[in-house]
Amino acid sequence: MKVDLGRFLGTCSCGRPHNISVKEIYIEAKATRYLKELLQGYENPVFVCDTNTKRASEEVLSEYFRQYKVVELTGENIHADNVNVEKLSNKLEAKVDIFIAVGSGTIHDLTRYVAFERNIPFISVPTAASVDGFVSTVAAMTWKGMKKTFPSKAPIYVLADTDIFGKAPYRLTASGISDLMGKYTALADWKISNILTDEYFCENIYDLEMEAVKEVESILDKIKLGDTDSMEKLMYALILSGLAMQMIGNSRPASGAEHHISHLWEMAVINEPIDALHGEKVSVGLILSLQKYGEVLEAIESGNIEVIDNSDLEIELLKDTFGKKGLYEEVLEENGESLLKAVDLVKLKDHFKAIALELHKLPKACDMKMLLKKAGCIVSMDQLNLPNIKELTLVLSPYVRRRLTFMRVTKLLRL
Ligand SMILES: [Zn+2]
Ligand SMILES: [Zn+2]
Repeated sequence: MKVDLGRFLGTCSCGRPHNISVKEIYIEAKATRYLKELLQGYENPVFVCDTNTKRASEEVLSEYFRQYKVVELTGENIHADNVNVEKLSNKLEAKVDIFIAVGSGTIHDLTRYVAFERNIPFISVPTAASVDGFVSTVAAMTWKGMKKTFPSKAPIYVLADTDIFGKAPYRLTASGISDLMGKYTALADWKISNILTDEYFCENIYDLEMEAVKEVESILDKIKLGDTDSMEKLMYALILSGLAMQMIGNSRPASGAEHHISHLWEMAVINEPIDALHGEKVSVGLILSLQKYGEVLEAIESGNIEVIDNSDLEIELLKDTFGKKGLYEEVLEENGESLLKAVDLVKLKDHFKAIALELHKLPKACDMKMLLKKAGCIVSMDQLNLPNIKELTLVLSPYVRRRLTFMRVTKLLRL
């Protein structure tokens, strides 16, 4: 199917026009057949892939791989970081005029970063329904140890070919399911921040995403069986999440407390580096966040909760943890003045009801855990080889990004 982008455009009831820079998106078998036509007019297209994604797409794209230059990043565990940006850049000639990213999240992040640097367009060919970042306008990178997002290029076309991503190893698909389910807490964080600080919020985008998440949630068993139609629905929901980021202009609708937990672990501040996929870390981050949010909900409903004046950054703790990895300055710089200063304590207390209403829309942690487990997703810190750092994770993770999440707001609450 061709995704109807027209329905997302125009001035929205939120008062803002929503822009989308992707021209067309196809999610269907043989979607890559459009490549020939799209590459007309370009003199030096370069396909970017890694060894696995090259292999995964070889059958479908062999004709292109013969005809055009292919840059293959080799080695295990390729990450979106400064080292691989350099590796990729070194393999490129100056005359490249368009990239075709053939891969999952990492290849896309690297390609969009370099495309931005060189100011050339790129076409996205996802090889797995493993993340929501294909159409993102920012690249999530590890830059000299620190997780950062950089302004980047969004693809001009997305050709999600079911003949390629529908055959991806299930582990990648499961990771995509988890990344998508993570929108539950991301959306709740956004809405609660809107309630507390009047941060800009779009009801339509919120609803659009929630609907897509629920639709996928209802067909997880079919996705696990590899049903083509259901796989395409998962890919659509992931791409929609990316479009939501484009329409808002940042990752707010797609990334909240659950992603911050994942980023913290990626930075290996309180843990050894872990070797897991993005969605696998988000999966556990989601469950931990849902547990915490559930506890707060219970406390609100039983009246066992009070607001405390605790909006300062936890300087000593940050020194002790991020500092030991040489990331103290970066964390301070990212945070700036404590975000919690923007939360009025009286308003917070007065809005417990509205917050509880939002928390009620979330699935229970135990239900989500069961659902994800059944879908073959990662659900525990054990599975990620993480020691018992749950409490410290909850305390530190909000500091990895300057973004108000409900997790951060819980610092103002005593249960
Ligand atoms: Zn809107
Ligand atoms: Zn994600």
